[in-house]
Amino acid sequence: MPHPSISNYFISLNEAKSLSQSIKIPIEEEEVNIENSYNRILSKDVYSLVNDPPFDNSSMDGYAVIFSDTISATQENPIELEIIDFISAGHPPIKKLTSGSAAKIMTGAPIPEGADSIIMIEKTKEVDGKVLLYCPSFPNYIRLKGENLTKNELILEKGTFLTPHNIGLLATSGHSKISVIKKLKISIISTGDELIPPGLEIKKGQIYESNSYVLEGLIKEIGHIPIRKKAIPDSIEKLRIELNNAALESDLIITSGGVSMGDLDIVRKLMETEGEILFWRIKIKPGSPPLFGLWGETPLFGLPGNPVSSSVVFQMLINPWLKYITNSKGPKEKIIKAKLTEEIKNKKDFLVFPRVLVENNEEGLIAYTKTHQGSGNLRSLTTHNGIAIIYPHIKYEINSQIDVLLL
Ligand code: AMP
Ligand code: MG
Repeated sequence: MPHPSISNYFISLNEAKSLSQSIKIPIEEEEVNIENSYNRILSKDVYSLVNDPPFDNSSMDGYAVIFSDTISATQENPIELEIIDFISAGHPPIKKLTSGSAAKIMTGAPIPEGADSIIMIEKTKEVDGKVLLYCPSFPNYIRLKGENLTKNELILEKGTFLTPHNIGLLATSGHSKISVIKKLKISIISTGDELIPPGLEIKKGQIYESNSYVLEGLIKEIGHIPIRKKAIPDSIEKLRIELNNAALESDLIITSGGVSMGDLDIVRKLMETEGEILFWRIKIKPGSPPLFGLWGETPLFGLPGNPVSSSVVFQMLINPWLKYITNSKGPKEKIIKAKLTEEIKNKKDFLVFPRVLVENNEEGLIAYTKTHQGSGNLRSLTTHNGIAIIYPHIKYEINSQIDVLLL
């Protein structure tokens, strides 16, 4: 008997997002060293342990001086000051500066007591323990204590997706370890009698399996653990075994292929009879036949087999789900506006996702399609650098502004 939800006819992408987000899974935290925190999601707010810089320091190689001593310095009438100290980065100054004296100072070295400005080395000349200044010094060559970070200040919020700069900031602020969301284990199961792995000799009727490699990379990019399985044939029995195994070892199952209307669409058939389906089919093109449900307790996204469709549905539906359940603010979607240089047809009720090439020319950002757009042509995701978002209610003509999700 068909599952009751199977009668639902094509829901919108937003409805699909909110239905999938009604299913949650337990999310755990762990502590990691910051060198292992790339692409991880912070599970707690992080506060700075220090002021940065921790002390006033010089932003130039030069001399620490008292500004009022230097005001009248010119090329013709330089000022002469006595050099009383040499201060380099990592070494605290010993002597206090008084009027008429200067301390030679290197970038990053602490400002000595009494000094209020720096003159860069290029504007001076050193002669017999004295320095000649050919112009006034600059107060703004001093980097003030705490101007970058204040001790106990919130520097990165819970949910931050850790990029190289975020990780650098954690180091600057004194953290060697941080709490992050435990990576989710995500099984990828491709289905199809025709699929063989690259490397084997191809026979008539066969194709090389590619979706699992794309999905593996997309999962790694957002900081989780893909478990890429060997593709299985279109067999309900084999699928049942694979799903049972995957449910034991992973937090989420992604299947590819076998969710449409065909006689061998085994993922849909098995989910109808032995799983639980929350929805099937979304008003998007490409990628309309995905399903979402539970295999036992484990959430399952059934992606269509066409390579462009499976990637697009991952990006438009699974990625937002993973971000939602892990409370992650990243990686940030890069959606830009670009000017269309050709007409693109919208589709009644459906969101359409043509792959477009975005270029920056004298008119600003422009977008156009370059190669074949068929949902079976994975190449369209490599020759283009964006996925345009074409809404059903808008007419798109040459020069229309469109939204593009950068790949
Ligand atoms: P399906 O969704 O199973 O009907 O498959 C739709 C199309 O995608 C068919 O042409 C399949 O051969 C192709 N396909 C399915 N799975 C994969 C895969 N893992 N890699 C590459 N192509 C696939
Ligand atoms: Mg198939």
